[in-house]
Amino acid sequence: MTQLTKNFSLEELAFTDKKKYQQKNLEIVTRKHRVNLTLLAHLLQPIRDLVKRPVVVTSGYRYYWLNRAVRGAKHSQHRYAEAVDFVVRGDHGPEQLERVFLNIKDERVFDINLISQCIIETRSGKKGDWQWIHLAMITDRFRKSKKYRFEGPQFLWTINGRDYQIWE
Ligand SMILES: [Zn+2]
Repeated sequence: MTQLTKNFSLEELAFTDKKKYQQKNLEIVTRKHRVNLTLLAHLLQPIRDLVKRPVVVTSGYRYYWLNRAVRGAKHSQHRYAEAVDFVVRGDHGPEQLERVFLNIKDERVFDINLISQCIIETRSGKKGDWQWIHLAMITDRFRKSKKYRFEGPQFLWTINGRDYQIWE
């Protein structure tokens, strides 16, 4: 294991539950995206310190084929090791993750100038609802990318991954 901050390792930030892609994903990220992963770990650490509970990465870096397999957006920041999806362990219902989201949104708690997007994502299934937070950071690549016209961090929510609403 390669520890990047007190609570986050390189391996966690390259995690995927798609077994077929795990090894390749880790190889590529280690070679190409070490700096970004370290930055992501430093974004997550203050959140971990704040909630005082395990922050579990459900999806971090995704190389091309993994991103395809999970039907990620074509230019998803996950592909560049600029985004991470996480949940907070210790199930206190949806309010818990919402509270974390609001903390990230709060300039007094979190340096929002580091992030491009923070999205609270909810999906519904037979076993009920599940939620996670997508947190993406600003990098030079992101700034230069023509795809984005960046006007400050966006705080959004979605219940289907297609329609995104601005969190008021
Ligand atoms: Zn995501």
